[in-house]
Amino acid sequence: MKIHNGSLYWPTTTNPFTPKNTFEKLDLYDVVIVGSGMSGALTGLALAEAGLKIAILDKREMATGSSSANTGLLQYSNDIMLHELIGQIGEKDAVRFYQLCYEAMDDLERIAKSLPIEVDFIRRPSICYASDENDVEKIKAEYDTLIKYGFPCDYWGPNEMAEKMPFSKPGALVTFGDAEINPLKFVHGILTKLEELGVHFFPYTEVLDVLEDNDKLEIRTSGQPFYANHIVYTTGYETTPVGERIGADINRSYAFVSNPIPAFNDWYEQALIWETKRPYLYIRSTVEGRIVVGGLDEDKPEAPDSDEVILQRAENLLQQTKELFPNYDIQIDYAYAASFGESIDNIPFIGEHPTKKDHFYLLGYGGNGTVYSMLGSHILKDLIEGKRNEDAELVQLERKYGVR
Ligand SMILES: Cc1cc2nc3c(=O)[nH]c(=O)nc-3n(C[C@H](O)[C@H](O)[C@H](O)COP(=O)(O)OP(=O)(O)OC[C@H]3O[C@@H](n4cnc5c(N)ncnc54)[C@H](O)[C@@H]3O)c2cc1C
Repeated sequence: MKIHNGSLYWPTTTNPFTPKNTFEKLDLYDVVIVGSGMSGALTGLALAEAGLKIAILDKREMATGSSSANTGLLQYSNDIMLHELIGQIGEKDAVRFYQLCYEAMDDLERIAKSLPIEVDFIRRPSICYASDENDVEKIKAEYDTLIKYGFPCDYWGPNEMAEKMPFSKPGALVTFGDAEINPLKFVHGILTKLEELGVHFFPYTEVLDVLEDNDKLEIRTSGQPFYANHIVYTTGYETTPVGERIGADINRSYAFVSNPIPAFNDWYEQALIWETKRPYLYIRSTVEGRIVVGGLDEDKPEAPDSDEVILQRAENLLQQTKELFPNYDIQIDYAYAASFGESIDNIPFIGEHPTKKDHFYLLGYGGNGTVYSMLGSHILKDLIEGKRNEDAELVQLERKYGVR
């Protein structure tokens, strides 16, 4: 499956990650992780720090899946607002889910600061504006709900917005404690640390099937077989080799990265920007002074082959961005399309397969994928170590739109 196409920006900011390969393959691993993107790297870190023997297999070059197309906005708010999630799963669970996302921001920062390379993690507020008058009530309801449960945020009316930004909207929810990151450097930094912790990497190794072999798993691949006590599927938006995702909705999305802009003087704290409309436009800046813009999701799973289509969509995103920032001389330096997975019930898929023992999944579908990868890595570590995790039920696979 073609999961991205066009010119990606993050791979131009760092060298490819090449494993050193100075190890001998083990006869039996505690855990084999399938996929070397954000989810595989963070899960590997949680498990390797707990002292487990880990192998990470990837059918591609390391870390070249969706994580290299990720635009790197880290937010505690989700595609589904807290007051809407309360309506869907109840107050206690919805608030706990939001708390987990909020706590994941601190975990991401702690890891970012502990890595051997700089990964450009910078705390930023987020501005979620009402795309039209009709959505102002929704924004206000969310503000009231977040305040009620102690999440840091503010509400801006149109005047306050015009004072702080070069554009105004009917209303905006401003959340604090969010961040931007270079997601590819982050994954490379974690993989570098994992190598130091003794994790074994096997790029260009596709997992085809997994069989029960007495009390262990036999993992059949495009190369040699592997044996493990547990397997974790962090396969991103592609079909998992075992199990069926019944709650996944795979679309495609577009993004462009601009030329460096000399200064962002009238952009309030270089906040992350998004909106209430679906699909939403989202915008951030980078340490090089570029603007990253994404949106225009389409109901097709694969990135288009045509460069012309990608450029056309990027031009559309550019026009929308210029309307918000008329004083910047913005041009398109990089433009790409990528598959993008959402979950039908807005909850990521994290946990053990309902009937297949020792098969675990971390599929962080949704705009907040990185935050889900972070919180999911803690949950999986506990489950794999045989410990009870109080939050595991929130994201478990055994649900109407889960994995079977
Ligand atoms: C355009 C775009 C913008 C985004 N922006 C954001 C954002 O701003 N913030 C945010 O938090 N998230 C964002 N996301 C989501 C984020 O990119 C994902 O959550 C994240 O990349 C998922 O990481 P992953 O490790 O699960 O998947 P991937 O990075 O795709 O890694 C999965 C790996 O598994 C490998 N694999 C698959 N099947 C097999 C197999 N059978 N055998 C061996 N290997 C296999 C693949 O080769 C791949 O390398 C965005 C996504 C897109 C597409």
